[in-house]
Amino acid sequence: MSTKVVDRSPLTFYESTYLPALLGGLKVTTRHAWNTLVKGKTVTMEYPEQKWVVPEGYRGAPYLVKDQEGATKCVSCQLCEFVCPPKAIRITPPGPNGQKADRTNAEKMPQEFEINMLRCIFCGLCQEVCPEEAIFLQKDYSLTGESRAEMIFNKEKLLKLGGTHAGIQKWKHKLDEAKEQEVFPVATE
Ligand code: SF4
Ligand code: SF4
Repeated sequence: MSTKVVDRSPLTFYESTYLPALLGGLKVTTRHAWNTLVKGKTVTMEYPEQKWVVPEGYRGAPYLVKDQEGATKCVSCQLCEFVCPPKAIRITPPGPNGQKADRTNAEKMPQEFEINMLRCIFCGLCQEVCPEEAIFLQKDYSLTGESRAEMIFNKEKLLKLGGTHAGIQKWKHKLDEAKEQEVFPVATE
């Protein structure tokens, strides 16, 4: 194996006094002190009492959602499990004699649905592929637990955290977005 020796240029006399780094740090401190004391702007917040307001479209933790009747939207198709890059989702289907779906127009719902939040990279692919609008990345960025097992969220917990989402209509909005595009985004010769 070849080794590449990287030359380190020696410090100048000025750099060796550490003054450039010290002055740079003081400049940042002075700027923040000025903004806080004179302009009244705060650069810190008292977390967790004060929560950061995340921007629209922020990709937080994925949770399962219920429909307006409080029924499970997930039909255990396992598309999200298949597509999940870090394999964070594990679905146990109900099987032929398992529990039936708790809503009409659905054949089944998962017997168990787990997301390992330690593996999840909040990519949003599960939300993208879900045909039933049953899983959504929400704005939750503060996930804590005292053990690894606690960070594996089961179906009950995911449904509780996801809550009821009646008016999402993801596919309707996708169609509207597509119709709004006057030009096909890929240039054709
Ligand atoms: S957000 Fe991405 S990584 Fe997390 S569960 Fe969904 S597909 Fe998997
Ligand atoms: S959350 Fe959506 S994609 Fe995943 S199993 Fe349920 S219905 Fe299928």
